[in-house]
Amino acid sequence: MREWCTCLVELLHSGKVRDLYADGDDLILVASDRVSVYDTVLPTPIPDKGKLLTALSLWWFEQLADLVPNHVISATDVPAEFAGRAIRCRRLEMVPVECVARGYLTGGGLKEYESTGAVSGVELPRGLVEAAILPEPIFTPTTKAPVGEHDQPMTYAEVVEKVGAETAERLRQVTIEVYCRGAELAADRGILVADTKIELGWAADGTLLLGDEVLTPDSSRFWPAQSYQPGRAQFSYDKQHVRDWATSSGWDRQGPPPEVPAEVVAATRARYIEVYERLTGNRWE
Ligand code: ATP
Ligand code: MG
Repeated sequence: MREWCTCLVELLHSGKVRDLYADGDDLILVASDRVSVYDTVLPTPIPDKGKLLTALSLWWFEQLADLVPNHVISATDVPAEFAGRAIRCRRLEMVPVECVARGYLTGGGLKEYESTGAVSGVELPRGLVEAAILPEPIFTPTTKAPVGEHDQPMTYAEVVEKVGAETAERLRQVTIEVYCRGAELAADRGILVADTKIELGWAADGTLLLGDEVLTPDSSRFWPAQSYQPGRAQFSYDKQHVRDWATSSGWDRQGPPPEVPAEVVAATRARYIEVYERLTGNRWE
């Protein structure tokens, strides 16, 4: 039996990386130290990752508060065992769309572009190479796939069909604004935000709030600006060490991954700290 079973909060959902609890009308969103690569959770946690990502997300919510209100109630009024890595938030009715903005061509967006010339129905100029900067940031929503399935690209028309024209326009506008603010701020600090995913939801009073986590390395692709070079895969700010290790370890990405060596854990932790410190300008303990 785990410690939290003795407290009043009720586990609603355990994701790959985060756990979601109900506490009365509120939710407690808890970030663990788990790390996933290639959609698989590794057996070795990265110490402080949950706290770092929670602190970063809280910082971003503040930076973005004039653009969009958010679900945060408190970062301190949480069960003691989750202190520092949990956020008490308003329970929202989540919009059934993953709101993605892309400023660069990579990942699933690149694959789609290579086969169709468009991403989520947005036509792009011909001849763009991997990691190319896009003429302007684009809204490339996806479905919110059930656990174990992959999110599928949605065209804007499909979003309209799902949530109505007015909400679709709000989603697009907020997503692009959040991306632009985030990318601009990060660029000043030497980090490129290739893309990011946000989640929005309705509060009981009918307002649309920013939920989930925001502009963390788990919801966004961060690249070091210094080594940016279009035409090839970029280094991932946070997971490069684990990915390189995973590739060289002989793990087939199907079966259970082996334990991550201590030096890879330490290098990865240092990367999360670096992202946090660079972006926020705060020192990590
Ligand atoms: P995974 O990330 O492992 O693929 P997941 O996205 O389902 O799985 P998590 O991201 O770990 O799981 O869990 C967060 C869940 O909480 C998401 O489904 C998200 O939509 C939901 N959520 C976030 N904030 C709120 C909120 N304020 N109200 C209601 N649901 C929320
Ligand atoms: Mg998630």
